[in-house]
Amino acid sequence: MNSYKVHHVRMLSPTAFIVRFDRKHLQFTPGQYVSVGVENDQQAREYSIYSAVDDPYLEILVKEVENGIVSKRLRKLKAGDILRVNGPMGSFANNISDDSSFRLFVASGSGISPFHSIVKSGQLANYQLVHGVKSKVDAYESSAYSSGKYVLCTSRENSGDFNGRVSDYLRKQQLPQDTQAYLCGNCDMIFEVYDILTDKGISVENIHSEVYF
Ligand SMILES: Cc1cc2nc3c(=O)[nH]c(=O)nc-3n(C[C@H](O)[C@H](O)[C@H](O)COP(=O)(O)OP(=O)(O)OC[C@H]3O[C@@H](n4cnc5c(N)ncnc54)[C@H](O)[C@@H]3O)c2cc1C
Repeated sequence: MNSYKVHHVRMLSPTAFIVRFDRKHLQFTPGQYVSVGVENDQQAREYSIYSAVDDPYLEILVKEVENGIVSKRLRKLKAGDILRVNGPMGSFANNISDDSSFRLFVASGSGISPFHSIVKSGQLANYQLVHGVKSKVDAYESSAYSSGKYVLCTSRENSGDFNGRVSDYLRKQQLPQDTQAYLCGNCDMIFEVYDILTDKGISVENIHSEVYF
């Protein structure tokens, strides 16, 4: 693992935050993740890269997990602290290019992180990002996405664009048959959305997923 200096920790909600740290010479493809731990600690966890390929720094978006080990330690980081970082790893969105086919991005919670990197890195014109959270406070930096391309689904309160889960939203949508779908977040969401998309005739080769837990 290599050492990277922390620039800052930026809170997005009471339990979610961005850690910005040195880029050094790390090259990555949007959608990839890194393994991250704090200094003098053997524990490390995977985090998707949130920042764009051309940013001079690296960022990860972390949701603090109740009783979680590493996410709690990351939240306590201060400017100048040292992170241990390994990677990048993964091939979630390696085949994405800036052509005109429709991309459906489906995220639950912090699963929005790779999509932020993908959107901020390229000129993707034809996408929709469907983000499932409990309440609007978890619509992390949603102004980063082009107008009309971000759909916030809130399951606990009627404060988003759609009141319900991403699966409830997607069941009601018509999708082009050649949709390229990218699903990221918890496995229950991914399994459910996978079934909805295949029922709508989207080919399994066009459904890509990254499971967080
Ligand atoms: C490829 C990959 C990329 C990932 N990218 C991100 C990312 O960008 N941002 C991010 O916040 N997490 C991401 N994760 C999850 C992350 O690696 C950790 O699992 C998470 O931060 C919890 O670690 P912890 O040490 O705090 O909790 P632990 O002590 O390891 O685990 C506590 C429990 O929490 C569960 N858990 C893990 N994540 C969540 C969650 N978000 N909500 C509720 N329960 C959870 C675990 O399954 C476990 O049962 C990713 C995981 C993978 C495999």
